[in-house]
Amino acid sequence: MTPTRRTFLKAGGALVSALGFDLAPAYAQSRELRIARTTETRSTCPYCSVSCGIIIHTLGDRAKNVTPQVVHVEGDPDHPINRGTLCPKGSSLLQDIINPRRLMKPQVRRPGSDHWEDISWDQAIDEIAHLVKKTRDETFVEKDAQGRTVNRCEGIAWNGGCTDTNEFNYLVVKSMRSLGVCYLENQARV
Ligand code: SF4
Repeated sequence: MTPTRRTFLKAGGALVSALGFDLAPAYAQSRELRIARTTETRSTCPYCSVSCGIIIHTLGDRAKNVTPQVVHVEGDPDHPINRGTLCPKGSSLLQDIINPRRLMKPQVRRPGSDHWEDISWDQAIDEIAHLVKKTRDETFVEKDAQGRTVNRCEGIAWNGGCTDTNEFNYLVVKSMRSLGVCYLENQARV
């Protein structure tokens, strides 16, 4: 019989018990050692719309001349949505925060280019503003085919992110609607 993941884990648990090892205290001890002297920051998992609460443990916040370092992330037991649990994706959040491949700067791939290039935040804002203005000017529709006034911008779409707050989304809706943008989606959850 081919073992399923469930039967494999069950068999593994029985083996551990048969050998007389109880790993729970060791796991608890390792967790305690990891978060000793850390500062707790409550936050929200950024991945999906379930919005599980998390606690980020940071070392070094209180010391001068020390760069704070995130050392552990776990589910928030007081959070009404997840009550301390995290799915496998949420459980890997530490690797999302501390990752040498994480993008720390805006990047742009120019038309026809085969690679991305780093640009500064100021340059990114300037270029985005320029392109928004240009696209709106080129695609704004004042009247539809029947001559009715519609005043809409059909050349721009906005897609929000899962860590956007309600307040941020409020401003997004206000600013996008003021441009006439109709294709607008966001994920209010924080
Ligand atoms: S822990 Fe999992 S279920 Fe919860 S918000 Fe993150 S990705 Fe979604």
